[in-house]
This record gives sequence, C-alpha cells and structure tokens, in this order.
Amino acid sequence: MQTECQIESNTPYYVYQLILLSLLLFPTSIVLAFDINPFKEYNGGAELVHTFEQPAAEILVSSIINPVHEELTIKTLFFVRDTRMPGYELIDDNLIRKVIRGVRWNDDPLNFLPDNPRQWLLNFEHASKITDRINENFDLFYRSHHADLQFLHAMASSEDESAQFTRAAIMSWIEFTYKVASGYIPVHTPFKQLHNYLSPKTSLVFKNFFTQNGRRLNWTPAYLFSLKCTREVVLPSTFEALDCSQTTWLPNKQDIQNIALGSLLHVIQDSFSDSHVTRNPDYDGNYSLIHGRSAIQTFNTYKKQSIRLHRGADSYPQDMDQPPMQSGFNLEEVSAEVISYVLSDRTRPRNKNRQALVNSKLRKGIFHLLDPNATAGSGKYK
Ligand SMILES: [Zn+2]
Repeated sequence: MQTECQIESNTPYYVYQLILLSLLLFPTSIVLAFDINPFKEYNGGAELVHTFEQPAAEILVSSIINPVHEELTIKTLFFVRDTRMPGYELIDDNLIRKVIRGVRWNDDPLNFLPDNPRQWLLNFEHASKITDRINENFDLFYRSHHADLQFLHAMASSEDESAQFTRAAIMSWIEFTYKVASGYIPVHTPFKQLHNYLSPKTSLVFKNFFTQNGRRLNWTPAYLFSLKCTREVVLPSTFEALDCSQTTWLPNKQDIQNIALGSLLHVIQDSFSDSHVTRNPDYDGNYSLIHGRSAIQTFNTYKKQSIRLHRGADSYPQDMDQPPMQSGFNLEEVSAEVISYVLSDRTRPRNKNRQALVNSKLRKGIFHLLDPNATAGSGKYK
C-alpha cells in the first residue's frame, strides 16, 4: 500500500517553544470542529469515561478535551435504539464504539490518538504554520484541518469558495461514506474502481481530492478508515516521514462500515456548529445551537475568522440538554434518520440502497442553500 508523503520542515526549535508557550497561554488557539476527547471511551452510558491516561500538557494546550462529537453520537444512537427506528437492532456496544471512532476520524484521520497526543499536537501546529504550502501531496491530517479537505468539517477551504462548491464536496463525502457504511461499496474496493459505485459527480469530486495523478489508486475504504500512523517529530527541525505500517489493526467489515458512518455523522454535526456554518435564523452570541435550525446562509472559512472566537462555538452546544424543537431541524433527528437508513440498508439487497434518497433529503433539508453563490463567510467570528 502506498503511504502518504510529508515534507520536512525547517522551522527552528525556538519557534516550537514559542508555539507551545503561546498554546499554554492561549489554549483556544487550536481549532477543531466540535471538540473530541479520544482519551475517554464509551462504557454503556450517555457520557464517556476515562480509559486512557490524559496527558496533562497536551490536554491543556488543545481542544481534545470535551467529547462533544462523541456524546452527540451516543445521544443519537440511543435515540434510534430507544425509539426502535428501522435498523435499531444492529446497535450494540461494539457498533457504538466504532461509530465513535469514526466520528473522531475527521479530526484524526491518521489515528495518532490516543497513543500519540504529542505528535498530534505538533503536526497540527506545524500544519497551521505552513497552511499556504499544503497541497494534495500532503497527508489527510494536514489537509483535513488546514487545506482542501475542510469540507470534512462542513467548512469552506478558501476565502472565495462558493457555497455550492462546499456543498458539492460535502454531499460527495456523504455519498461515499453512506455507501461504505451501508455495504453498497465493499470495504476492500480499490479507489481506482470506486467509479463503479459512485454517481458520476461524486466520482469526479472523489478523484479530484483523492486519486488525482495516480495517487492512492490502490487504497480501499478499509485502509482509509483504519490508517494508524506515526510520525516522529524530531525537534528542532525535522518531521520524519509518515509511517503507516501499523495499518492492519482493523480489518473487520462491520467495523469499517461503522467508522464510515461516524465520519458521515461528523460532517452533519459540524454543520450545526455556528462558527462553521451560518444558518437561519440568526441569534446573538458565540455559541452553537443544535435545535430548531434552518437553511444555510454561508459555509464559513477559518481564513476569515478570529480563531479565538471560532472556538467558542465548538464546545458543548448551548441547547445540548434541551429537548428538540417542533419546527426547524434538530441535529439528533436528522442524524438518527440517516443512521436508520444506513443500518436498515445493510440488510437490503444492494440495488435497494437508498443513498440517493438520503442525499436528496439532506440537500433539500439541512444543506439547503439560501444563496448557492454566496462566498465563504466568517459568521460572527471575524
Ligand atoms: Zn470537524
């Protein structure tokens, strides 16, 4: 299997000391989407429990602290199970754990965490320093947060990106992950054969992001979603090549499908983060709401935002513990419907796969655009 390449950095050691110092002083300067906490695990309840030792320094300096994505996911899976939506009988503890792994994947596509928090942090900071130089030759970790794959967080990747471009990338990712999660795309399908399974539009988008110029042609969904890599950061100035040799850790078909489902849910969840997407109706305050939301005004871009303000909307949504609203979109309901379709499609013949129906519902629903030509915005987070 082909692994990702990574350039070396010439950043002097003192810069890292400054970065770490600034992070200690301003812990909000790291940006993710809604927060995650990979040092905690699902243990049967609605809240995660500590299972890994949380490294004090790293946790101080990063936003890998509040398990927002994870708890939104558990809440939704419990909703599907408790209301016995179609497919609910497939939900067991193993499924929940793997969907949680998937919901962290968009933030940590190389699975640095929980074993290598220091690498996660240093790579993240390095990526923020060289944003303008990151291209498709860089690995998914660099691209997910700081370059062209920010649609994985329902954000625009550049200042002049139109809402319909961002949405097309998001819908393509949802199509791909849905089809893997539901079993329509076999998990060992090489990327070079994905066009047999994807709509022409998604096939093109996928190619542009992942297989251009002959890259990653032999990757498979199983490989993509089970990457487990390391990269030694040797200060003062070297980021060694990425090493993904550990990547056989998760070969099970259902596990890959559940991770793909988690990645799909991550995008939907992030689209309710007020700093990522400005939705109707407006309200004052730098926080997120997951209930009673409506169509999209703009997808936002970090490049137009104050990173400190952006972070405010990525902690727990203000209405996390309140019941859904009667009108507008509620995150749990939208996510639960998608989960139900995916799980029940697993037991249907492949020609009865309902991905196109789900994409169409999402497109007219939570991803409806008030102005398709609107350029990437900043929301209230300038
Ligand atoms: Zn995200």
